[in-house]
Amino acid sequence: MTQKPFYLCSREYKPDPTVLDFEKVKVGTEQLLIIAGPCAVESEEQMSTTAAAVKAAGGHVLRGGLFKPRTSPYSFQGLGMEGLNLLIDAAKEHNLLTITEVMDLEHVEKLAGSVDILQVGSRNMQNYPLLRQLGKLDKPVLLKRGLSATVEEFLAAAEYILVEGNNKVILCERGIRTFQNHFRFTPDISAIPLVHELSHLPILLDPSHCSGNSSWVSTIAKAGIAAGADGLMIEVHPSPEQALSDGQQSLVPGQFLTLMKEVRKVAGAVGRTL
Ligand code: PEP
Ligand code: MN
Repeated sequence: MTQKPFYLCSREYKPDPTVLDFEKVKVGTEQLLIIAGPCAVESEEQMSTTAAAVKAAGGHVLRGGLFKPRTSPYSFQGLGMEGLNLLIDAAKEHNLLTITEVMDLEHVEKLAGSVDILQVGSRNMQNYPLLRQLGKLDKPVLLKRGLSATVEEFLAAAEYILVEGNNKVILCERGIRTFQNHFRFTPDISAIPLVHELSHLPILLDPSHCSGNSSWVSTIAKAGIAAGADGLMIEVHPSPEQALSDGQQSLVPGQFLTLMKEVRKVAGAVGRTL
């Protein structure tokens, strides 16, 4: 008999939701996890201002990319390991957890020892050696859906992590490629209830990369929570017009605070807490 490609991720294998316990938030319960911060770590001031805003609005995890998978090789590629302490120090100052993207096998060990959650970006969803390596760790991994991946392919990618022994996996819907060209990507809201039906793993929504435009982030975020997402990943920057990546879709702290107030209302309406 051939094994289902996402057997360990499936409800057949494990009927109850997988819960990741971050002390303040238990992801996979009624509690929502909020990850926010800039697309890329740029400076001490940028990180510390953003961290303060994320904390004040009720966020839990500070994000910030060190290694950026940019479409153009001529765009800002991230500060690399030089930015690591800027992320860690800003998070510590405001009592937040940390997440950053790992793109390369050679950075896995160092980043796993330094941050609370490792992010696998959309473009690396099917980087199987990377997934297997992360599967050997005892560390939460946030796996973003590939730009053109089906939900089955998404779960099969998560399976590469689980099959190596690490079941601390959080999925993240970040929008897919469709024929519509008004938004950067199309938020696949339907993937959220579908993942919940097929899998015990928690799933977040990233409305920032879905839309590519700050005006739509809040609306898409609320739709995601209403559809059952276990949390959100949102790009926030103190001065988006100066951001070195994804400024167009980044919220300023005030907009993020408003979003959180609105999301809290939707959360209450669907039995979730924030
Ligand atoms: C990001 O989170 O900044 C990012 C690059 O996301 P994605 O991999 O979904 O494009
Ligand atoms: Mn980004």
